[in-house]
This record gives sequence, structure tokens and C-alpha cells, in this order.
Amino acid sequence: MKKKLFLIIGAPGSGKTTDASIIAGRHMESIVHYSTGDMLREEVSSGSELGKTIDGFIAQGELVPLDIIMDTIISAIKNAPTDVVLIDGYPRSVEQMHALDKILDKEEEIELVSVIEVRVSEYVAKERILGRAAEAEVVRSDDSVEIFFDRMKIYTTPLEEIQTFYIKKDLLEVIDGERTLDLIVKEMEMFIVNKIWKPKIWCNVY
Ligand code: AMP
Repeated sequence: MKKKLFLIIGAPGSGKTTDASIIAGRHMESIVHYSTGDMLREEVSSGSELGKTIDGFIAQGELVPLDIIMDTIISAIKNAPTDVVLIDGYPRSVEQMHALDKILDKEEEIELVSVIEVRVSEYVAKERILGRAAEAEVVRSDDSVEIFFDRMKIYTTPLEEIQTFYIKKDLLEVIDGERTLDLIVKEMEMFIVNKIWKPKIWCNVY
């Protein structure tokens, strides 16, 4: 079966990983979710040489190199146990967007269904990141004010070009990420479910 791919993008602190994991948790038999940040951090925890390389980038809030992130997401999609795959945290650069687009052109087994942008202001993103750091038992190496602004800049710099690219393909869906978790998840879940399962209604206008 063809894999149906949803990409979820959003600033650090937008809540994209939490939203997507709740939705996948509610539809475990049909939807799987991967966060690029979590997959990379797992590689770091494994203590591998690759993990050590990745750690250097994450700790500075920088993007890991293209070949590493491409291998990470493509193998996640191909090995996914379900047909519907949610990936959050990708693309984070114009280069990544074009690299995936090239793959999708050739790869008939993967269909990009939609790119969901969870939109929050920089103020809300910062408050959430700093709140997360204050509450966490183990603080993420990149959850500090200094690194936050670098991560935010890395997120916003290519954003307009990414939005324009997916708007032209009629794939971009923007969700207001400043509401309660419950409302955001409900809207995102309904959107995904409708895209996957909504029966096509043919309307005869004559
Ligand atoms: P996140 O958990 O989504 O905030 O990501 C944490 C860190 O993982 C980022 O600051 C980057 O260093 C790295 N990372 C996550 N996604 C990507 C990506 N698509 N491309 C390159 N690096 C990434």
C-alpha cells in the first residue's frame, strides 16, 4: 500500500510533536508518528559515532547535515508499520524541501498528502520553551534562551519560501497553535482523518 505522508512544521515550542503524537496514539492501528528531533536524539542516546556527530549540531541549535536527515526520514517512512505517516520537524530548510520533492517525484510508493504548519508567535514559542526547561527533570541541551533565538531564526528564515512552495502545490494547511492543546489536536486530527478517510462526494450540478 502507498504510504500517505503528512509533514508537520512549526517553531520550536509550537507543540507540533505533542499534537502529532496524541493523534497517532488515538489511531495506533493506522497512523504512526515520528519526530525528526526525537529520532535524532535517539541516535545520540545510542552513543554511536553518528550520534556523536548529530549531538554537536543539536546542542548548538543547528540543523544536522542534509544526508543525515534524509536517511533518517526516508528510512522512517519506508519502515513505518502503518500506511499513514506523520513526520514533524521536516522540512526545515529549502534544501530539505527540494530534496524530498525530488524523491517524491520518483517514488510512487509515497504520497505527500499535506504539510501542516502549527503557527505560534515568537513570544508564545519562547514562553513554552522556557516553561518546558523549567519543568523538565532532564533539561534538553538546546532549551535555553540563547539557543532558542538561534533555533527560531533557523526556523523563520526559509519559512516563507517553504510556505509558498506548498501553497502552489495546494498542500499547505495552517493551524493556529496558540489555543488549548485540546482544540489544536481536535482540529489537526479532523483534518488528517478527513484527508485519509473522507469518502469522495460527487455532486451533480446539472
Ligand atoms: P526539535 O526536537 O524538533 O526541536 O529538534 C531539535 C534539533 O534536532 C534541531 O534544533 C536540529 O538540531 C535537529 N533537527 C530536527 N529536525 C531537523 C531537520 N529536519 N533537519 C536538520 N536538523 C534537524
